[in-house]
Amino acid sequence: MRATVLYGAGDVRVENVPDARLIEPTDALVTVSRACICGSDLWPYQLMQPGEPPRRMGHEAIGVVEAVGSGVHTLKIGDVVVMPFAYSDGTCAFCHEGLHTSCVHGGFFGTVELPGAQAEALRIPLADGTLFALPVGADDALMASLLTLSDVMGTGHHAARAAKVGRGKTAAVIGDGAVGLCAVIAARRLGAERIIMMGHHPDRIALAKEFGATDVVKERGEEAVARVRALAGGLGVHSVLECVGTDQAMRTAIGIARAGGAIGRVGVPHYEAIPGSEPAFYNNLMIGGGPAPVRAYIQELLPDVLEGKIEPGRVFDRIIGLDEVPDGYRAMNQRAAIKVMVKP
Ligand SMILES: [Zn+2]
Repeated sequence: MRATVLYGAGDVRVENVPDARLIEPTDALVTVSRACICGSDLWPYQLMQPGEPPRRMGHEAIGVVEAVGSGVHTLKIGDVVVMPFAYSDGTCAFCHEGLHTSCVHGGFFGTVELPGAQAEALRIPLADGTLFALPVGADDALMASLLTLSDVMGTGHHAARAAKVGRGKTAAVIGDGAVGLCAVIAARRLGAERIIMMGHHPDRIALAKEFGATDVVKERGEEAVARVRALAGGLGVHSVLECVGTDQAMRTAIGIARAGGAIGRVGVPHYEAIPGSEPAFYNNLMIGGGPAPVRAYIQELLPDVLEGKIEPGRVFDRIIGLDEVPDGYRAMNQRAAIKVMVKP
């Protein structure tokens, strides 16, 4: 079968690999009908070091169950399923608490340990706990939005939850990538009165406004902090949804948060220590977040997607075939595409 392999910085290839197959009794084999490229895929695409082992990429997909192991009881062949970016058993203490990304038997797709979803098919460990069977056919018109439940919509929602977004509050979203745009949707859905999008790409800002952003701040650094604070009555915002993961983004988050406010960080951090510990301390800021337990959020977000109340699938602005995946990485890396859908 064909699959995407990252060999080094800027070197991503689609090649023939051994067919995915069942290994454990709790596995399912899924044929990928739609996958996508994630902003977080761009980190290794930019930074992979010589000597690192090749990685089979991709952690978001919708597909059809082709086969199940003898220990799989809730799924059947032909089910249309969405996979969260992490696999989980659904039975341990953390899964019961809704924190599936900390599952004691879990792990992540698209790593050196487990092949990813930018492929014709993939093996899903702990399939009963991991996969969510969708009440739709394989060609449903809602497929783009349903695909975002694999990661970006659930991740935006996690940022909003961790940032304690609520009715009547002011929120700021740092980062205008697909997660940031979904964070705008999530903030609006949870009742934020004012949503300030911090970003500077015209196409993304336009979409953010359609998703519910009330204000846009294009500046960066200290200028951005001053602009947001001014927009928020000089006090700062209640909720900061940090969807980038750089030291600068976290500094900005701490700079714009109102005393007693909360920061939800979902951008994979590329800094050693959280900066700004002194202002964060004196302003009584809560800093939360991490990898989103999207498996827990599918149940909550799915009705809104099915009813068309939210349309996170609009973040996809390019659809490619599997063999064009290297072009897709280049386009996202150059910010020529917001998010790329792959139809193997
Ligand atoms: Zn678990």
